[in-house]
Amino acid sequence: MSHARQSAPTRARIGDGRIGSFLCATIGLLSVAAVLCLRFPAFLTTPELRPHYDVELLRLTLAVAMTAGALLGVLSIALGGPRLRAGIGLGALFLAMVLGGPYVPTTDFHQPRVYLGLDWLVLDLFFTGVVFVFLEWIFPRVRPDQVPLREGWRLDLAYFGVNHLAIGVFMVVSAHFAHDAFAWAVNAKVQTFVVGLPGVVRFVMVILAADLVEYVTHRTMHEVPVLWRIHAIHHSPDAMDWLSGSRLHFLEPLVTRSLVLVPIFLLGFPQDTIFAYVIFISVQSVVIHSNIRVNAGWLRYVIVTTQFHHWHHAADEEAVDRNYTAHTPLWDLLFGTWHLPADRWPKKYGTIKPVPGGMLGQFLHPFTGAVAEFREHRTK
Ligand SMILES: [Zn+2]
Ligand SMILES: [Zn+2]
Repeated sequence: MSHARQSAPTRARIGDGRIGSFLCATIGLLSVAAVLCLRFPAFLTTPELRPHYDVELLRLTLAVAMTAGALLGVLSIALGGPRLRAGIGLGALFLAMVLGGPYVPTTDFHQPRVYLGLDWLVLDLFFTGVVFVFLEWIFPRVRPDQVPLREGWRLDLAYFGVNHLAIGVFMVVSAHFAHDAFAWAVNAKVQTFVVGLPGVVRFVMVILAADLVEYVTHRTMHEVPVLWRIHAIHHSPDAMDWLSGSRLHFLEPLVTRSLVLVPIFLLGFPQDTIFAYVIFISVQSVVIHSNIRVNAGWLRYVIVTTQFHHWHHAADEEAVDRNYTAHTPLWDLLFGTWHLPADRWPKKYGTIKPVPGGMLGQFLHPFTGAVAEFREHRTK
């Protein structure tokens, strides 16, 4: 990898104040975001999620979290933990109170065309973060020495933020693409047939249809050099955990989601199937990147497991350009790109050719990489 290694972070111990200061800072920053969502729901919340909220329960949860955050911050300082981190957390909690706190009134509004998915970011980061930091702590790890705040976590967190905030852009673009470009291919008889199928069959169908598009799109991104420079960003982390899978060039979810939505739209799946599909893939995409060493047994032939996707991210020679599917290994088994040694995990992760280290450099990488290759070609 291109960047120099810093001194290895050590595992925090209960009682040294580091965990408390980190939790205080996290809760403080999430609280500011949550209060902003309550204050400006039209611009900062996702219309598709809004009807499912119990706002009073959310306000109560926020009040409890803010109180816990403040106590953890004070406790951390008393224990001699990092003062700057606890100070940021306490300052953020103060700001959240100044902005109105958990019981800030929410007024009626009209839905603007453009919005940020700040509510989706706060909820997903809070719940996924809490659950997976805990799971990676209690289960055997693929990399036993890897700590949650490993090298590169800030960059991956930034990607998590940007790709969650942009959910509105991804949804509007993908829905327009499917509806506008493929309206001619809609067949009412096919859609009536699909709606009449049992729920389990519909679920299997949506997974297989989406995964076939994932397979083709993903493989194309690996095999076409100009597209690889976009997808290489996702392969650039040299550590795998629940957060590392968030590292995706902005164009990648835009393209993949648009294409995956086409068969889902054409087959006319009802809302309950789409809801089950979205929940399944949201959890699975975190699980398969996580630093959890599980033996999935025969399940490895049915669904994409952590070990399967870790081999996809491997920099080991034997695994390059293997395991393209995202949900079930079926298409990799059929097309001969399946690679899953049962008893081994990859030795190293990342790209063979380094990509830039920062988010801006990575965003520009598909373009700057193309210019650099053109220059190289001309001087030969
Ligand atoms: Zn890939
Ligand atoms: Zn991945």
